[in-house]
Amino acid sequence: MEEFATEEAALPSAPGEAEHPALALANSAVALPGGRAADLLSTPARAEEWLVRRDLAPVGAGLAEVCATQLRSLREQVRSLLASLVAGQPALPAALAAVNDVMTRVPTASLLLWDEKTGPYRAAPHPTTAIVEHALAVIAADAADLLTSPDATRLTSCASPPCNRFLLKHGRRQWCSTRCGDRARAARAYARRTPTD
Ligand SMILES: [Zn+2]
Repeated sequence: MEEFATEEAALPSAPGEAEHPALALANSAVALPGGRAADLLSTPARAEEWLVRRDLAPVGAGLAEVCATQLRSLREQVRSLLASLVAGQPALPAALAAVNDVMTRVPTASLLLWDEKTGPYRAAPHPTTAIVEHALAVIAADAADLLTSPDATRLTSCASPPCNRFLLKHGRRQWCSTRCGDRARAARAYARRTPTD
């Protein structure tokens, strides 16, 4: 397992991530050459840092493993929807349902609770839960925006195996990073020099 600083260095932002937190979430786990993988949400501390860096959580929010799991789960649903769009396939109903659920789950009022001994009372959700649910809702809403906005026509997946990231195309560029572009060009040059039989 690589150190955090190395993983961050391996994952420079892909085009479109700055405007779309949903794209950044989708790209927060990546397959690297040599069978390696990097996951920026692999622990609660990393997930919290990821959210703080995007102004989706305050420093010291205190994420628990269950929060990181929720983020990783939303990531899989968002990746599924982006992949469906890129492939021109219908979305999985479960992915649509999950994103809609996250988008609409944020409570707008203190909840009504019932204590066995003292009866009904109202209370705000735990602050960390509120922070995480808000962040999830913002990301899910952004996924909905991304898929329905003009940006959707520019969405593609990185054309440099084994990379599995998504990006918004600018011109003919179809790689998520300079590193992936260099690797793809090197692979093409190698293929030209190597006889196929
Ligand atoms: Zn790439």
